[in-house]
Amino acid sequence: MMLRPLSLLVSLSLCVPLAASAVEFSAAELAKASTLQRTLLTLDSHLDTPANFARADFNIMRRHDHNALSQVDYPRMVEGALDGGFFAIYTDQGDRSRAAHLAERDHGLQRILQIHEMLAANPDTFQLALSADDAAKIKAAGKRVVYISMENASPLVADPSLLSYYHKAGLRLLSTVHFANNEFADSATDPKGAEWKGLSPAGKALVNEAVKLGIVIDQSHASDAVFDDLIAMMPVPFILSHSSAKAIYHHPRNLDDARLRQLAAKGGVIQANAYGGYLVDETKSAERKQAEEELEKRLGGWEHMTMAKGVELRKAMAELDQKYPQRKATLEDFFAHFGHMLDVVGPDHVGIGMDWDGGGGVTGMEDAADLPKITAWMQRRGLSEAQIANIWSGNVLRVMRQAQEYAATHATP
Ligand SMILES: [Zn+2]
Repeated sequence: MMLRPLSLLVSLSLCVPLAASAVEFSAAELAKASTLQRTLLTLDSHLDTPANFARADFNIMRRHDHNALSQVDYPRMVEGALDGGFFAIYTDQGDRSRAAHLAERDHGLQRILQIHEMLAANPDTFQLALSADDAAKIKAAGKRVVYISMENASPLVADPSLLSYYHKAGLRLLSTVHFANNEFADSATDPKGAEWKGLSPAGKALVNEAVKLGIVIDQSHASDAVFDDLIAMMPVPFILSHSSAKAIYHHPRNLDDARLRQLAAKGGVIQANAYGGYLVDETKSAERKQAEEELEKRLGGWEHMTMAKGVELRKAMAELDQKYPQRKATLEDFFAHFGHMLDVVGPDHVGIGMDWDGGGGVTGMEDAADLPKITAWMQRRGLSEAQIANIWSGNVLRVMRQAQEYAATHATP
């Protein structure tokens, strides 16, 4: 999830891209990939889908395609053979006033309640997963897997002790920061630059508390200095739930090869991201930016937009694509990052975190229904079924198992 929802939607729109994707798969390849995927446990480590739970006309059991606001729902999870993943409590970074911290606290609590309401409304279809072993059991029972994660720890600034409540309510993955610095950590993308030179003292305390509870730490969006702090202080591996490779596109949000190797040496995992603006330079013209801002205003703002307005938004964005064409990331660009990370750290340290419903998706991969293309690409590349299984869930669950075992053996009475 990014700051300007409309500007990130560019990568979702249907239009003639400036650079077409060269990766094509035959129907036979995709059928073979889907068949394999259904035998595996397939998890995406960063789903922004809970942002839609607050919209009155969103129902996860219904198909909401051709809609700028939605890329994941139950019908498309079935079609794309996606068993589930980490459903994020995302909170926008405010101005860091006391009032903003209280509003963020309330927002986080509302969002975790909305996740539980979705689970309660669909008990035969979705189930909350708490331990690393739960996911396989839930799949065996014929249901979809819901782990809960938090993107941006700003809801915890007003009262960090709320972390223990979140843990009891199912939180299993925690990131410290988002697009701008907060009280816990420096962001990779704050225009003001470093404030803490990594984690703040409060950030270190929060990470230590999360480790004690067995919550996995997520480095995505945090600065490289935060990464270095985590490498130095963490007694267990950590992950990047949705990140790309700096060697392929030099963006502060991406990870360089030296740090990729450090992450792997520690046992951690990077989950390949499909957010276009981190895959290639998608810089827009000033005219286009202005047109997007006006469009957002007209449709009532991202946060409060209905799903019905999301259909309108998609059409309007397609028109903007015609009027103000721009370079847009393709499936080939995604595979360039994914393939590079596999080359550098191997299949035990890479996974999938597409950023669905938070700006993810590229030309050639528009929503969760398209996921078998990733498996088909891995099969073409000659990865074994065991390696593909690890990439689809084994690696991230290995890190969770280590975090939970560490917490259990170091529990203080
Ligand atoms: Zn994000």
